[in-house]
Amino acid sequence: MTTSDTSTSPARHRVVIIGSGFGGLFAAQRLKRADVDITLIARTTHHLFQPMLYQVATGIVSEGEIAPATRIILRKQRNATVLLGDVFEIDVNAQTVTSRLLERVTVTPYDSLIIAAGADQSYFGNDQFAEYAPGMKTIDHALELRGRILGAFEQAELSDDPAEREKLLTFVVIGAGATGVEMAGQIAEMADRTLKGSFRHIDPTEARVILLDAAPAVLAPYGPKLSAKAKQRLEKLGVEVQLNAMVTDLDYDGIEVKDSDGTVRRIEAQCKVWSAGVQASSLGSVLAEQTGVELDRAGRVKVGPDLTVPGNPNVFVVGDMMAVDDVPGVAQGAIQGGRYAADAIKAGLRGQTPEQRKPFSYFDKGSMATISRYSAVMQVPLPFTKKKFETEGYFAWLGWLALHLVYLVGFRNRLNTFINWFFAFTTRGRTQLAVTEQQVYARTAMGALSALERREAEEIQEKLARAQRTRGA
Ligand SMILES: Cc1cc2nc3c(=O)[nH]c(=O)nc-3n(C[C@H](O)[C@H](O)[C@H](O)COP(=O)(O)OP(=O)(O)OC[C@H]3O[C@@H](n4cnc5c(N)ncnc54)[C@H](O)[C@@H]3O)c2cc1C
Repeated sequence: MTTSDTSTSPARHRVVIIGSGFGGLFAAQRLKRADVDITLIARTTHHLFQPMLYQVATGIVSEGEIAPATRIILRKQRNATVLLGDVFEIDVNAQTVTSRLLERVTVTPYDSLIIAAGADQSYFGNDQFAEYAPGMKTIDHALELRGRILGAFEQAELSDDPAEREKLLTFVVIGAGATGVEMAGQIAEMADRTLKGSFRHIDPTEARVILLDAAPAVLAPYGPKLSAKAKQRLEKLGVEVQLNAMVTDLDYDGIEVKDSDGTVRRIEAQCKVWSAGVQASSLGSVLAEQTGVELDRAGRVKVGPDLTVPGNPNVFVVGDMMAVDDVPGVAQGAIQGGRYAADAIKAGLRGQTPEQRKPFSYFDKGSMATISRYSAVMQVPLPFTKKKFETEGYFAWLGWLALHLVYLVGFRNRLNTFINWFFAFTTRGRTQLAVTEQQVYARTAMGALSALERREAEEIQEKLARAQRTRGA
């Protein structure tokens, strides 16, 4: 076991940040000039720009463009240290965070803690579905999906059985939120434009793309007008939109669906994508066990107005892990939360007490989702009213591109992405269509290995705790 205390001077305030996503990274950067030692611990080596994951899955951009290495981003920030590790224990009394990397266990002490561990895919209690319908949360997911989508076309090319071909050329996206809509639109465009003419025995343009949801609308949070437009646009692309349709079972060859009238039917489809729900990081439960803090149904932590765990004014929870009224689980919620926590820590160093903190207030900058090339929906709140400006189509799409370029980290990434977009949208070409066998098949094995390692790390922790108790007695 290693103890990581990265302070250059013992007097410096130690800030530990869990997560290198929007909440964690923006908090670390906000503390750049503060007189603190930051240790950022994350289970991935990169800062992932999740809004563009679907473009990795469908071959428009490469994974490196949307996932720059965190330690390179923070290289010049001398007060920040980056550690790779999966945090599995937080001790709010001892003020330590315990993480593991393979069999190595590291304990990191803190004075202030910012937890920004985000959310995972939720299968609503049916975790076994994950094997047949990967979610869309990580680079691994996106690359695996790219492999499954392209792999289905390859298998169909080799098949002489019409029923099997039909199954292989049927793609089902479950969940008609922004990610589902983007995925369905892009699979349809990839089949109709990029792959057209590149096979000899099948016609990729005959692929069937189904987007289904148990809810009665696509992009429901965008309201009826934009929702109807998005559905219309998807249908024009050839996507079959099936609403009020609940997935009841799922296996290697297809899915079982129950419609609102109670009819149960089956869709034969080898390639399925799950974008239906999210569950906050299990670190919320670790906090709940220790502090008694309440969690909501999605496992998010019910923080106080200053984003701290009640009774623990030095433990902040931000981003997708926090449950705060009227703050959606979007990048801006995490960025603003991370920055707020960093500012509160800086103010504390200047003598501000937790009672003097102003409550966190979220500034809604609006939301947008792309449907296909040249088409998106956009909703922006109008100042001083409760109304929203709504638009869809080409200008909303240009707005989406511009905004996402601004928030991509690194000039080179922006430039490469811009070039890739230019070719992908003005021609039929997509440059990122490579897949490896490992990308497609390794996830299940990695999952088993990870569970094994987690158990080992927990056993080490238990042994240590037992030894400490024996010494104490
Ligand atoms: C496919 C997709 C599309 C999206 N599109 C949009 C969009 O268009 N616009 C928008 O505003 N938002 C979008 N979102 C939502 C947005 O990406 C999230 O709200 C945002 O990323 C939340 O930031 P976060 O810092 O809370 O978590 P994340 O960005 O998820 O970061 C979590 C971090 O914690 C780390 N971590 C997790 N568990 C542990 C652990 N136990 N130990 C150590 N590290 C850990 C992870 O490695 C990661 O670095 C999208 C999300 C997805 C998945």
